[in-house]
Amino acid sequence: MFQDPATSLDPRMRVGESVTESLLAHGLAGRAERRDRAAALLIQVGLAADDARRYPHEFSGGQRQRVAIARALAVGPDLIVADEPVSALDVSVQAQVINLLLSLRDELGLALLFISHDLPTVEFLCDSVVVMYLGRVMERAPAGQFQHAPLHPYSQMLVRSAPRFGERLGAGVSADGGEMPSPLAPPTGCVFRTRCPRATLECALAVPPLEQVAPGRWLACIHPGAPA
Ligand code: SF4
Repeated sequence: MFQDPATSLDPRMRVGESVTESLLAHGLAGRAERRDRAAALLIQVGLAADDARRYPHEFSGGQRQRVAIARALAVGPDLIVADEPVSALDVSVQAQVINLLLSLRDELGLALLFISHDLPTVEFLCDSVVVMYLGRVMERAPAGQFQHAPLHPYSQMLVRSAPRFGERLGAGVSADGGEMPSPLAPPTGCVFRTRCPRATLECALAVPPLEQVAPGRWLACIHPGAPA
């Protein structure tokens, strides 16, 4: 699933064709079977079977994202990767789409890989959090532990900068300065070192390995015990 359902659906295809395009591409179903499957999927995501005949521009943003969910479900996946799936939607619609994803996850036994900068949504939706910076994993933790006690300086910067979440951490020095370096020319050693208040010369010399520091918690930092 992509961020903006308006641009991830082909405007010239009827929604029913879009939803079952993957079945056609993989030769998994004939025409009549695809039509029935499209109707069932649209109903499953809270739309109507007749919506299969309509075009994407005839739907609201939230409805289009429901179509995108139906399209993702068409081949019966075990895993759905959702890249900022609600950030282009109105706040009032975001909760509906998130609740739909949660109920489908439970009903179908799906795994969801949810990519987001929105910490309240991550807290609500996710069991486990992986923090990435310039393409490298900085920290991995159960969601509740991450929001209340992030260990990596970058994680702490993220949590402190989020409304409501920063107050949970209390006072402390936080990384906040400087621009993010270009991904095309990342810093040597630890990629976060140009913005890190703990950085030392050592951080420029070696890439910190991702190591387990407690049950369920992983961290890539050379100075994990230093104050942040
Ligand atoms: S390895 Fe060094 S620069 Fe990177 S996060 Fe840890 S202290 Fe900061």
